[in-house]
Amino acid sequence: MAVSSMPARSEDPTTRPARAVTRRPRGEGQWALGHREPLNPNERIKKDDDPLNVRARIETIYAHRGFASIDPQDLRGRFRWWGLYTQRRAGIDGGRTAVLEPHELEDEFFMLRVRIDGGQLSLAQLRVIADISREFARDTADITDRQNIQYHWIRVEDMPEIWRRLESVGLQTTEACGDCPRIMLGSPVAGVARDELLDPTPAIDEIVARYVGDKQFSNLPRKFKTSISWLVDTPYESNDIAFLGVDHPEHGPGFDVWVGGGLSTNPMLAQRLGVWVPLAEVPDVWAGVVGIFRDYGYRRLRNRARLKFLVADWGIERFREVLEKDYLGRTLLDGPAPDLPAKPIDHVGVHEQADGRHYVGAAPVVGRVSGGQLAQLADVVEAHGSDRVRLTPYQKLLVLDVPSERTESLVDALRAIGLEARPSAWRRGTMACTGIEYCKLAIVETKARGEELVARLEQRLRDFDADISIHINGCPNACARTQVADIGLKGQLVVGPDGRQVEGFQVHLGGGLGMAQGQTAGFGRKLRGLKTTAEELPEYVERLALRYLAGRSEGE
Ligand code: SF4
Repeated sequence: MAVSSMPARSEDPTTRPARAVTRRPRGEGQWALGHREPLNPNERIKKDDDPLNVRARIETIYAHRGFASIDPQDLRGRFRWWGLYTQRRAGIDGGRTAVLEPHELEDEFFMLRVRIDGGQLSLAQLRVIADISREFARDTADITDRQNIQYHWIRVEDMPEIWRRLESVGLQTTEACGDCPRIMLGSPVAGVARDELLDPTPAIDEIVARYVGDKQFSNLPRKFKTSISWLVDTPYESNDIAFLGVDHPEHGPGFDVWVGGGLSTNPMLAQRLGVWVPLAEVPDVWAGVVGIFRDYGYRRLRNRARLKFLVADWGIERFREVLEKDYLGRTLLDGPAPDLPAKPIDHVGVHEQADGRHYVGAAPVVGRVSGGQLAQLADVVEAHGSDRVRLTPYQKLLVLDVPSERTESLVDALRAIGLEARPSAWRRGTMACTGIEYCKLAIVETKARGEELVARLEQRLRDFDADISIHINGCPNACARTQVADIGLKGQLVVGPDGRQVEGFQVHLGGGLGMAQGQTAGFGRKLRGLKTTAEELPEYVERLALRYLAGRSEGE
């Protein structure tokens, strides 16, 4: 890999005429253009000390002296590089989220993310995750929409022991959060799917081994999200970089590359670079794109620091040219566009693998599971002759390698522990982010609302037979992908029936990802005037569903 270190251009303002200084356009803090001085507090924290170094301080100081001993810059900055965020203090309503100081919003417990690249878990890893949940996290263990496991109620005192246990089975929290390469999404059926021509897992493993925890990429302008899959079973278009399987007519199976996706504010879908990359070159191309982001990404404003803004400003041709010339030192082969399915694949249900065995995909409700449930799952998985579980970016889980004659027994056993392989459309299609229960940025409750919504709709519209996606988000940050759901819900305060502000949602309708050519992948229409109180959400969704059923065309 040839990642250039881009020499800093001399920009000493004291040696230039005053006239030039006053006319100089404001820089975006791009390192490659010589802007090495931090332009905001986040950049300052990263420059003062590499955030990866905080692990040693946690183990040698903070874990012994407790929460009160933690340096605020470590607490609210560098801890994230090890998957740790302070947790929202219970009882603070969404109206106060924006007005309180960080220390007033947080309590002394942490949220901890375990990165599970590609969502792949062995039985031994599942058991360790379950044990940690029960011993150190008050039985919490949410499946996130990025295939992570997220704990709550973690104490800094317990972190050395938690790391020891995770690392004993090959799991880690390294760069699970922070301005660095986050967990890599991967197909939950990589290596077993009947219609997969090439298993990308070796590329994911190599990137993790080479670059996660590597200080050359531990100070990026902001987070960097990756998806690598043969099938269209991840929300690839919302990632900073995505590799999607494509069969080249001359060169065979390889990957089509997309860059610059991201939701949150100013959402953008990733764009195709138009190249074909063989499996062995995926890590180098990935590192080249991360290098561009590190060197040219915007570091002045946090809300303009994602790769999507650079891609939008440069355009895809220039981006490819810089990647090839300055970072890879060679041109990439042009490649065809991949075939896209009519709708994203979530793998729920019973499906045959390439080797004749089966995998079973099951749905918790809005990704919420407990450590106790995961321990029961491990027993069920083992009893059915499997050693492998996968998490999906739709907050579901899969059991692989089930002998055909055991699938129905497995479906029943999963149901008995609250995991449903034949869920209603509502349970299958509803996701929720962390929300006000634990997230310091939240304005509204999400998980409990999601559970209530699914229960009410299952009661009222039990036989609803269409695929539907409902994404519930606690604030505009869109962690549960507000803009790309059939019904996307953005948490905010709205005016209630008695004129007072109450929890509610702005509604986005008709978004979608991974759509077949001829259909349009895109964002839901944000209907500014369309809002619902959280209280009225079930009735609101029910009305929408009934209207859809009444108006849909034959076969829709
Ligand atoms: Fe928190 Fe907002 Fe993200 Fe939900 S969308 S997890 S409330 S930051």
